[in-house]
Amino acid sequence: MSNSIGSLISMTRALGEPAMDYVIIGEGNTSMRRDDDSFYVKASGHQMHNIGEDGFVAVRLAPMLALLDDPPKTLTEQKAITESAILPPNALGGTEGGLALSPSIEVSFHAMLLHDCDVGFIGHTHPTAINQILCSEHAADFALKRRFPDEVVLCGPQSALAPYADPGLPLAIVMRERVQQFMAAHGEAPKLILLENHGMIALGGSPAEILNITAMAVKAARIFLGALITGKPTRLPDEEVQHLYRRPDEIYRRQRFVAK
Ligand SMILES: [Zn+2]
Repeated sequence: MSNSIGSLISMTRALGEPAMDYVIIGEGNTSMRRDDDSFYVKASGHQMHNIGEDGFVAVRLAPMLALLDDPPKTLTEQKAITESAILPPNALGGTEGGLALSPSIEVSFHAMLLHDCDVGFIGHTHPTAINQILCSEHAADFALKRRFPDEVVLCGPQSALAPYADPGLPLAIVMRERVQQFMAAHGEAPKLILLENHGMIALGGSPAEILNITAMAVKAARIFLGALITGKPTRLPDEEVQHLYRRPDEIYRRQRFVAK
């Protein structure tokens, strides 16, 4: 597998566009499979809307996955393992300017999702509309039920929902458990993961899929919030959700949207 970092840069800038209200300042992070053994992830401290190639770090996958299986006892040990997984030119002692970038604090969940869900791209943001729900008692209702057909087509029949956990390795470990439960129930990886009191993650095979899922999730959040103002939100019946998700013409539409 070989993806161009240019596509990761343009996807990240689009997610960071201020008018979209998905992230502000240094919020959010993205990643992309680089090859079988490594991936690119946003570096810590970079803003998404104006990011360039120097805002990403190449990281080896195996050491990051090992962190989840055998979490180090100290943050110092965890940091040393993460730094040793960084590939040139940003590795410590790298030759290009000697600048050692740190990967995003969320590097471990990016590694886990790229590997376990076998996807090429990930976009993690904190949209205001989504967090208005995830910071409320309505988070599970929003995540587990669907309200209109295009939400089903783009975001899948349900979202995976992860309880709040400390950002970094603790969040990656909790998220892995929820993703495994989702895959056991649905026979496939989630397209959308919602993190209580935190934000959302879109998973996909192309930058277009990440942008579409994020946009549709935000639209669904706005509709849900509007429905809460006017009364109790209604939901599509579960059998209708499954029917919509499996309809050949909807599968065709989904594939057309993401084939970019
Ligand atoms: Zn976050």
